[in-house]
Amino acid sequence: MAEYSALSLLKNALSGNRDWRPAWRKAEPKPAYDVVIVGGGGHGLATAYYLAREHGIARVAVLEKGWLGSGNIGRNTTIVRSNYLLPESIRFYDFSVKLWENLSHALNYNVMFSQRGILNLAHSPAQADEYIRRGNAMRHGGGDAVWLTRHEIARRVPGIDFSPRARFPVVGGLLQPRAGTARHDAVAWGYARAADRLGVDIVENCEVTGFLREGDRITGVATTRGDIRAGKVALAVAGSTSRLMRMAGIERFPIESHVLQAFVTEAVKPYVDCVVTFGGGHLYMSQSDKGGLVFGGDLDGYNSYAQRGNLPLVKEVMSEMVAMFPATARLRLLRSWGGVMDMSMDGSPIITRGPLPGMYLNCGWCYGGFKATPASGFSFAWTIAKDEPHPINAPFTLSRFERGAVIDEKGQGPTPKLH
Ligand SMILES: Cc1cc2nc3c(=O)[nH]c(=O)nc-3n(C[C@H](O)[C@H](O)[C@H](O)COP(=O)(O)OP(=O)(O)OC[C@H]3O[C@@H](n4cnc5c(N)ncnc54)[C@H](O)[C@@H]3O)c2cc1C
Repeated sequence: MAEYSALSLLKNALSGNRDWRPAWRKAEPKPAYDVVIVGGGGHGLATAYYLAREHGIARVAVLEKGWLGSGNIGRNTTIVRSNYLLPESIRFYDFSVKLWENLSHALNYNVMFSQRGILNLAHSPAQADEYIRRGNAMRHGGGDAVWLTRHEIARRVPGIDFSPRARFPVVGGLLQPRAGTARHDAVAWGYARAADRLGVDIVENCEVTGFLREGDRITGVATTRGDIRAGKVALAVAGSTSRLMRMAGIERFPIESHVLQAFVTEAVKPYVDCVVTFGGGHLYMSQSDKGGLVFGGDLDGYNSYAQRGNLPLVKEVMSEMVAMFPATARLRLLRSWGGVMDMSMDGSPIITRGPLPGMYLNCGWCYGGFKATPASGFSFAWTIAKDEPHPINAPFTLSRFERGAVIDEKGQGPTPKLH
């Protein structure tokens, strides 16, 4: 792989920056591949990279209907964490954090992973008990968690409302120090570049419109750029999962699509040095390297495939932000956008072979698929290459719905918009 390095920067500066290779080729689709991956988001691109690097399978195409980064990979609030309660989730997401820790080196691309920590604020003694229990579970599972008192939080994040009039008094908070943020586009571009260099074809502006099949078996895809045959067809289309399932003739599937919005303020001086979540509602906030406050809240609460949200949720998120950080009331909001979330019925992902022969499926990421990108790509590639799950994704197949052994992390039951 042509390295990005200080030496190559110098060499290219001296030649007027005319000799840089494009980060990935504009590949034309071929008539057949060993594996076709539908969806050029983080998960599809990571899967292609690990298929080529870990399993030597490089006759692979990633088909993306728009441009790389046009989906949720380029629309999220970039929080990376593994602060889960249930052992299956802790194992999976902690493995992901470990891959994040070396990702820039592995891809030779700076994904700007910053382990600034995530702090979950507790606003009642009952919530504090719940968070401490979760922290203990994380530590038992090999993860990192620290309980911070109200006074420690006031010193660390002085912008939080600690006044006697605060509407949501802070009791304490659970800190995961190894959590953090990363540059979302860079993750897509880094995986794309590394996969391309290993021989993967990345085909943009190529929408899958149907499936080729022999009986029940999926043998390829119909696309806006012609039919493509494939030994294996892997779907990683996030919020479009139910659409693709319908194309395959599967009308009922345990995924719903919901809009989730995100917001960025104008840039300010350093204000908060970790990710903070609000326990009195649903709000998460961090400060980007450029200085903007990046934050988001709940789902809009209705099914949609639109990449934009509506005003009631904007109002709710703003009111939570101002309740938590009163000084932000004076800030101007620069941008907001929406993404289409693939909400599963138990709030946990699906990484599996099937549901039809020749098909492999990766979906159900809800609010949290960005942080999962490396572990998801790694374990999905394993599942595709070996036709069996890797131990870290074995609990996340479709069979859990047949057995009733769902991984209901938040305890909300089968109500996706509550997850
Ligand atoms: C506002 C918001 C905030 C979020 N915050 C966080 C966070 O802080 N931390 C976190 O971990 N997660 C977060 N998420 C969730 C996370 O972004 C997603 O779970 C994750 O990015 C989904 O995986 P992906 O990157 O592969 O999806 P996507 O990037 O959406 O990739 C799917 C791709 O499939 C393509 N596609 C769809 N249909 C077709 C077709 N027919 N043919 C070809 N291509 C097709 C789409 O164009 C898209 O590019 C957030 C999401 C949103 C919207």
